[in-house]
Amino acid sequence: MEELEKFKTQIAMCNICAWCRAKCPVYGITKWESEGPRGRMILLRGVVYGLLEPTPDVVEKIYECTSCAMCNINCDAEISPLDVMLGARRAFSKAGVAPPSPNKKMDSRIVRDKNPYGASQKERFQWLNDPLPERSDNVLFVGCVNAFRHPETMKRAVSILRAAGYEFTVLKDEVCCGMHPYWDGQTELAKQLAERNAALFDKAGASTIVTPCAGCYSTFLRSYPELVGNFGFKIRHLSEVIRDIAKEGGIELRREGTVKVTYHDPCHLGRHCNFYDPPRELIKLIPGVELAEMEKSRAEANCCGGGGGLFTLKPELSVRIAEKRVREAEATGAKYLVTVCPLCRTNLDLASKRLESQLRVCDVVDLVASRLKTAGGE
Ligand code: SF4
Ligand code: SF4
Repeated sequence: MEELEKFKTQIAMCNICAWCRAKCPVYGITKWESEGPRGRMILLRGVVYGLLEPTPDVVEKIYECTSCAMCNINCDAEISPLDVMLGARRAFSKAGVAPPSPNKKMDSRIVRDKNPYGASQKERFQWLNDPLPERSDNVLFVGCVNAFRHPETMKRAVSILRAAGYEFTVLKDEVCCGMHPYWDGQTELAKQLAERNAALFDKAGASTIVTPCAGCYSTFLRSYPELVGNFGFKIRHLSEVIRDIAKEGGIELRREGTVKVTYHDPCHLGRHCNFYDPPRELIKLIPGVELAEMEKSRAEANCCGGGGGLFTLKPELSVRIAEKRVREAEATGAKYLVTVCPLCRTNLDLASKRLESQLRVCDVVDLVASRLKTAGGE
């Protein structure tokens, strides 16, 4: 298992101290050693030294991880357990023993439909009524979750950008960014999707890619350079673009009483890309909106449970992790739990409804649109 051999030194360096375990969101729910980062490192030590076969049970433990990167920042030996787990997923996939069946089915749907939902490509932009140019410097890459699950938010995003006179287009043939197969260890599939999108960006004459999705953002910023080599596009999160527009007076936002909101840092923006401030700055630009931080925020922010393919593999476990985050958000006294990732939003919303919480979960785009003087609005 060549991909795993590369990590033999890191695996050997793990001193089994368990510093990483305390903050692992999966271990935090199940309390099973094999479902925390230290346990996974011990399992992989067994595999890499030929003492343990990668049986379906062992493989499943390696996929019961949200890719939140909390273990990376809490490792006493300064190794990267998450990188080791991605290496293991790649090795297991190459050996034909992974991904587990639900993840494999999801990846097959992405191969067939270019999105994880089994929807047709025609449906991707059904919500978009505005005529946009064929080519532009700026491409708004919507991403599958927003396109198919949150079209109203995307309509609002387009309204905000158009109200500001921001020049952009979309890729009518946009395909899944490849995040799910990438974290499943299906590198070849992720590479094919990355090459397809990169060619479309070129064709559209883009220099900047703007995305409303934390997953697409980190995939473009961190994975595409590895997958497609010379990937020279500037990557911006939509919250950053709207913050700049609002700061420069490109849109006018109105006060609607006062409201307290809290902000959830998506792991793939925060710990993965060190992106913390723009959404907060945007929220603070809205008159009458007070931002209350959760006890755990920024690099310390707890995970929503939705990433790394865990929502596909173990949806119940995933939502239980989200429930913990919703409780943390409730403790701030906020009315809205705002985020900038459609996957976090979906999972937190499910959790909030299941808990019958009063907290409303939304994207920052929805919050801005509801206070927009010139266009859009809820
Ligand atoms: S990345 Fe997150 S979920 Fe995965 S093992 Fe590390 S702390 Fe646990
Ligand atoms: S904190 Fe690092 S060294 Fe300690 S058990 Fe976790 S991975 Fe191993």
